Amino acid sequence: MLYAWVHGVKRPPLERGERTVCDCGGQLTAVIPVENVRHWRHKAGDCDPWSEPEGAWHLGWKERFDLSCREIALVDPATGERHRADVLCGVGTPQPTVLELQHSSISEEERVAREAFYMKAHRMFWLVHIHNEANFNGYSFGFSLDFGSRTYQLNGHTYAVMRWMGRSKQFIEKWKRAAAHVFFEFQGNVFYLASESVSRRLGGPLKKGEFALCHLARDDFIRAVHGSP
Ligand SMILES: [Zn+2]
Repeated sequence: MLYAWVHGVKRPPLERGERTVCDCGGQLTAVIPVENVRHWRHKAGDCDPWSEPEGAWHLGWKERFDLSCREIALVDPATGERHRADVLCGVGTPQPTVLELQHSSISEEERVAREAFYMKAHRMFWLVHIHNEANFNGYSFGFSLDFGSRTYQLNGHTYAVMRWMGRSKQFIEKWKRAAAHVFFEFQGNVFYLASESVSRRLGGPLKKGEFALCHLARDDFIRAVHGSP
């Protein structure tokens, strides 16, 4: 986790050896890597079993939201299950929204589990970082992008239907099945992945390996997380 409360201030660690306490009551110690992002580490294991190592990509996106919206611990009152939303906006409004920032690949089971937890009481967005670090998704996605062949206008937005050019369609099919709204970030661009219901309005159901995207400005994406249509 990148932030913790220290003497009433929510912030990253400033120096080696610094200590504080997490919302969960666990002891936290400062980690100040030379190359990577400074963060807090639980002494006895993270209270969020879904926690993953975070780098510059996570930090950059979290910093685009108010500090009060970043890393919000949520507890299911029925089960006591505890997780930390990367970003939570609109608390107290009719449409509180959890944004999950996904840099590493996750299994379908984990995607489903996270959606089930967060969507009990929130709208949910995924922002999936597409890159080539541990796979070739970046190349596949880059080759797939085609906003010139099959375009459709829907609700004032331009959608384009394209084909996944990678060998395996597993990545794109997994995200097409998501219950939450899925956005991809690729080389600084943000794309909304058409949900099943949107796809059906774009000339019929999509075939395996086909998907539809709508390109949007980063500021429009941030406004959407804040609840704008
Ligand atoms: Zn904790």
